[in-house]
This record gives sequence, structure tokens and C-alpha cells, in this order.
Amino acid sequence: MRYYSTNKQAPVATLEKAVVKGLAEDRGLYMPENIKRLPVSFFDQIEKKTFQEIAYTVADAFFGEDVEAEALKKIVYDTLAFDCPVVPVTDRIYSLELFHGPTLAFKDVGARFMARLLQYFIRQETTDTRPVNVLVATSGDTGSAVANGFLGVDGIHVYVLYPKGKVSKIQESQFTTLGRNITAIEVDGVFDDCQTLVKNAFMDEEVNDHLRLTSANSINVARFLPQAFYYFNAYARIKEMLGEEAARQTVMCVPSGNFGNICSALFGRKMGLPVKRFIAANNANDIFYQYLQTGIYTPKASRQTIANAMDVGDPSNFARIYDLHHGNHQEITSYISGASYTDEQIRDTMRTCFEENNYILDPHGACGYRALSEQLQEGEVGIFCETAHPAKFKETVESAIGVPVAIPDRLAAFMKGEKQSILMPKDFPAFKEFLMNE
Ligand SMILES: *Cc1c(COP(=O)(O)O)cnc(C)c1O
Repeated sequence: MRYYSTNKQAPVATLEKAVVKGLAEDRGLYMPENIKRLPVSFFDQIEKKTFQEIAYTVADAFFGEDVEAEALKKIVYDTLAFDCPVVPVTDRIYSLELFHGPTLAFKDVGARFMARLLQYFIRQETTDTRPVNVLVATSGDTGSAVANGFLGVDGIHVYVLYPKGKVSKIQESQFTTLGRNITAIEVDGVFDDCQTLVKNAFMDEEVNDHLRLTSANSINVARFLPQAFYYFNAYARIKEMLGEEAARQTVMCVPSGNFGNICSALFGRKMGLPVKRFIAANNANDIFYQYLQTGIYTPKASRQTIANAMDVGDPSNFARIYDLHHGNHQEITSYISGASYTDEQIRDTMRTCFEENNYILDPHGACGYRALSEQLQEGEVGIFCETAHPAKFKETVESAIGVPVAIPDRLAAFMKGEKQSILMPKDFPAFKEFLMNE
């Protein structure tokens, strides 16, 4: 499969190039040249298949031309070492729980898949056999998903740059306690300084001669496309529980920030996933919501909210959604609606959902649940993505619902680990010297 850039000014790329480079030369996002429709027979029997079987069929449609079948199967099965169950919350709203992975958030799926695919390409290569170094700047959650996704993967070293004192203790523990092939770098600055250091390293010739570098940001096709796996599985599980007729009335609601997660669901629909429509739920950062109302896309500075993984003022995957529909606003609004909630509304939703259903939402999932409660029509079934475990936002959730939130064992284990990180000033020469000695 070849991949083109959403900006259309860069040469088409192979899968390997798209994965290693992440972003095209013209700063556009890579898109697969075609999106294969899965056969009707696949959907006829889908409820009888396991998550891994379903995921492999989806993976094969995207990556089958470029990755040998047995290897791809192993990548998929290793990635999905945990379940993404569909759990009833009310009589017609279901939670697609995406927090059962190592860092308790949905980004685990994409990060684990990308790590294994990158390893596959490294092993195929005979000319450059040096290890690959992944540089990632994080304001919290991306660093932990990438670090844990790549943990113990041979031939790859990960450097996580994060702003000193600006990430929560829970988040910090998830990438500073790992050791092995993961190095945490604590930058004396803010997130933008971390990102600038990474960008400078990618542009520096000497550093690139010395080290093979790659990024693993969320726009990478190998992180973003595998998210489609769990939408197909969610459809299968609903069909299994409620039958085909009900499953076809499914509304998928995705709490969105950079819009990678919902975009992979829209790719799923292009592949034939027979769900009815989609909702993108936002916090106060309502850029996409405004676009749906007006047809005009106006990026803004991001606003800080209690659903902070969605604090994005210029969602990068908007370019993919736009491209997928050839910029046709009417087509987009024909099956995607939006919602935008204040922190107050998010808190209220966490409280009422707990009181009414005894289900604890995290602040992101709360946006999804609320949008379904407000917009679901007669006869429809709603599934929202619960994108993170509520314990990751313990204080916020507890103050909203008024009862303690238990910390799962694997999260507690991170917090017991010993912090190992390298302090780094925010200026590039110091970071360069560090990399040149690696
Ligand atoms: C990253 C993230 C989101 C937003 O996902 P996008 O793919 O950026 O739209 C939502 N919730 C949580 C918990 C996240 O970590």
C-alpha cells in the first residue's frame, strides 16, 4: 500500500517510510491510497469471532500487502494482550472500555502496535543495522503509552522528554520507573521546550549521522490505524448481545482531542463497518464542534480543562477527516455530530452517571456518555469510548462523585517503582551533547 500526504505536495511513501518518518515532507499526514471494503461475509459471522481474529482481518486490509502474514498476526496478537470489553451502563448506553492496557488508556493499542511494526521493519533491513531511537515529547499520557508500548522491544531505544514539575505523579511514574530500553529526560522548561528539543534533534545533521532517529507521535499511521480494531470488535459484541438489527442502529461516540481515535472509526466505516452514525464529544475546546455548525475550521489556542488529554486547539487529524470526505462539509455532517462541554458539565455528568448507574466515568469518557444521553434517538444504541481509567484522574473524579476511586494494581505498581530520570536544561546544545554521547 502506498501512502500520500494530506497536503499533496510530498511524494507517496511506502508503509515503512510512513511509519519511520511519521510526517510527510510537506508536513502533511499520511493517508493510505485505498481503504479496502471488507466482505459482507465477514460481518455476517463477526459476532462469532474473537477480538484478535477481528483485529487481524482489519490489520490485513491495511498492512497485509507490506507485512508478511504470520508476522502481522503475531504483531496484532501481541498488541492485544488485553481486552477492550463493551460494558452496559444504562439500558441502551454501553461503555467501550479502552483502559485495560498497561497504562490504562486507549493509546496503549496504537503504541504497542507501532512498536512491534517498527521492530519488524528494523529486522527486515540489512543495510543499516543500528538500533532505532524514538524521541517523544510528552505533556503526560503520550509518553507513558509510547514508553510502555516499546518497553522491552529489541533494537529500539526510547527517550521520553517531559517538562519538570508539569506532569502528575501518576503520569511521571508510568515512564520514569521502567528502565531497560526507556530513558526519561526531565526538561527544565515547559512542554513546548520539550517539543522544540525533539524537533531540533531531528533537524541536526550530526545527531542524525550519529543516531538513527524516529518519532512516535500520534499522527503516525502505525499508531492511528490500529485503533480501528476495537470499533469492529465493539460492533461484534453488540451484535452478539442484541442481534444484528440493533447493532446496525449503533451510534459510536468518541471523546476527541487530536481526533485520531474517531478518525480511525471513520476509516472503519469506509471499510464497511455497519454502524449508524458517530458523535465527536469535546470539552470546552470546541473547534470541531464549531466546524460542524458553520463549515469553517478556525483553530484556536487550547484551553485547559479537567479532561486535559483533549485540550487541543488545532486537532491534527482534522486534515485526515477533511481529506477522507474531500472537504465536503455536508457529507461530514450527514453522519457525524458534535458536542462540547464545560468542566462543570463534565463534573455533573460524572456525578449523575455514578448516582444513576453506579458506573464511574473518567472526565473524558464523561463527555462521551453525556453526548449519548443527550443525542441518542428512539431505537438507537449508544457506545462511548471510556478512553482512560478513572483512577488516572483520581482527585478530579473523587471530588465529583464523592467516593474514593480504587487504584488498579498495575497503576499502583508504577507508583511504587523508583524514579529514574536525567535532568536536562531546555537549550539544545546540552541535549545534543547528551545524544552525541549515546
Ligand atoms: C489522547 C486522549 C483522548 C483524545 O484522543 P484523540 O485521538 O487525540 O482524539 C481522549 N481521552 C484520553 C484519556 C486520551 O488520552
